Amino acid sequence: MLDVKRGMGDWQAINQRRTMQPTDKIFVAGHRGMVGSAIVRKLEQSGFSNVLTAGREHTDLTDRAAVDALFGDEQPGVVVLAAARVGGIHANNSFPADFIRDNLQIQTNVIDSAWNHGVGKLLFLGSSCIYPRLAEQPIREDSLLTGPLEPTNEWYAIAKIAGIKMCQAYRRQYGFDAICVQPTNVYGSGDNFDLQSSHVVAALIRKFHEAKARGDATVTVWGTGTPRREFIHVDDLADACVFLLNGYSAEEIVNIGTGQEVTIAEFSAIVAHVVGFKGDIVYDADMPDGTPRKLIDSSRLAGLGWSPGIGLEDGLAQAYRWFLENVTDTA
Ligand code: GDP
Repeated sequence: MLDVKRGMGDWQAINQRRTMQPTDKIFVAGHRGMVGSAIVRKLEQSGFSNVLTAGREHTDLTDRAAVDALFGDEQPGVVVLAAARVGGIHANNSFPADFIRDNLQIQTNVIDSAWNHGVGKLLFLGSSCIYPRLAEQPIREDSLLTGPLEPTNEWYAIAKIAGIKMCQAYRRQYGFDAICVQPTNVYGSGDNFDLQSSHVVAALIRKFHEAKARGDATVTVWGTGTPRREFIHVDDLADACVFLLNGYSAEEIVNIGTGQEVTIAEFSAIVAHVVGFKGDIVYDADMPDGTPRKLIDSSRLAGLGWSPGIGLEDGLAQAYRWFLENVTDTA
């Protein structure tokens, strides 16, 4: 058990080193997930060769003693907190206890242990679902906690908001350089293609692919088709995270999006085109729509000098190739 929290004096020495060094040991928590694995790839491509990962069989991040042991043994200098229980609208709605408990445990353990073990910088991945359901669009960072959340994912959102507040509190009280990013809906290599727990992009790639393979006349898309969403390819998200790790240090959270939004109906037509499905699309209005519109305002990030590079159709073509090469339990 560690008994000493470092004071502001100690912090100032560390705080002078804002830019990552190629030799830094960077712990990516959640490296098997879509976002964590993309960040590992991006770090390695960018010349950071000392990347630390720890599989669940080695370190259960919901177990505080295991997390402390990992930090004590490995002494990373930088942490990317991409580990979380994640899922699409149906999974979030069906397993609220799992989503709030696991995420609160993982982030509390990792943030506090990182601080206790002298980590110099931490990046916490949030989500655009932290914002009020009916926030003014495009959603600015300062709309956090200005209204009620979308009920289908409020458990996950509350956990993520607590993580953001924890990072901000540790910065204020201890001077810990923890930064928080809020990605819009993410897709790409390493996505979860299970229809019960996936997000819409992976779900529709699988549905259209399987319908094409079986020769089905229709594909069923959940909800009414009217909700609007913005999507970012995970390689763009990873690029933005490494960009911010290198140069950003402030309490204010940062949105990461593309500025492009589509309705679910428009999006379904694009996925059908990319996959080559020529039949009809029908809507199941008994399934939830979720929040009506979720376009985030990424002008803070743009002002720092970052912009996305992967267009939606190209990104979807890449994600479909990844699906074809990696997902084997399909038609
Ligand atoms: P959300 O952005 O948190 O609502 O997460 P999702 O990616 O799960 O859902 C986005 C939108 O896509 C919602 O309006 C869903 O109803 C709609 N959608 C349509 N078909 C599907 C599907 O097969 N799976 C999922 N997860 N969402 C779907």
